[in-house]
Amino acid sequence: MSGPLSGKRAVVIGAGGLGGPALLGLAAAGVGKLVLLDGDAVETSNLARQPLFGEADLGRRKAEAAAARLRQLFPSTQVDAVDGRFDGGSAARVLQGADVLLDGSDDFETRFLANDEALRAGVPLVHGGVLRYTAQILTVVPGTTGCLRCLFEAPPPRGEVPSCAEAGVLGALAGFAGSLMAAEALRLLAGEPGAYAGRLLVYEARSASSRLVPVKQRPDCTACPSAARGAPGPVESESSRARGGAA
Ligand SMILES: [Zn+2]
Repeated sequence: MSGPLSGKRAVVIGAGGLGGPALLGLAAAGVGKLVLLDGDAVETSNLARQPLFGEADLGRRKAEAAAARLRQLFPSTQVDAVDGRFDGGSAARVLQGADVLLDGSDDFETRFLANDEALRAGVPLVHGGVLRYTAQILTVVPGTTGCLRCLFEAPPPRGEVPSCAEAGVLGALAGFAGSLMAAEALRLLAGEPGAYAGRLLVYEARSASSRLVPVKQRPDCTACPSAARGAPGPVESESSRARGGAA
């Protein structure tokens, strides 16, 4: 395989409803190295929306089954499978040398951790989420756009928002959102600006309506680079310059 994508490394959290189609899109486009993380086993309820798995995979570890399927379909793609969650222990290691991080996890703790660790490592993040009939995508470019915490500050209290498993997900909608995540990651890997960089796409499948919510960097964001290091945020430095104050 040739082309600039063959030298790129994409890390994908979750090999399920979002991560599965995203991984397929990335591998098919020729991304050279894929790192996938998933700590679950394949269950019957997964098969309706997780295209990397079939009935023969029931009970297998998702990371192992997903990697095997991807290697079978795209032998020239290097696939590293991590049978475990994206957490404080694995984050720095898997993000080493990564060109883009795609988050297809289905819990808020992991989503915010992915946000924080991507910002810390300076790796662009494509966040995806899907619940019932709604899909959302946001691209976080460290130091340039706002992030998940600029938008929401913190995860909602446990149990307040139902998980995909509790609320249900339209399988085809997850496939759609995962494919959009792959397309967005491919734009970033090609050096183009992301379509969802600094703006959250919210797509409502039942009304076929979508909206883009601007996500600006909040000066007091605890995760965005300028704020996290205790340096003045863009707004403060702007005002101190206006006052003629010394840096
Ligand atoms: Zn932020």
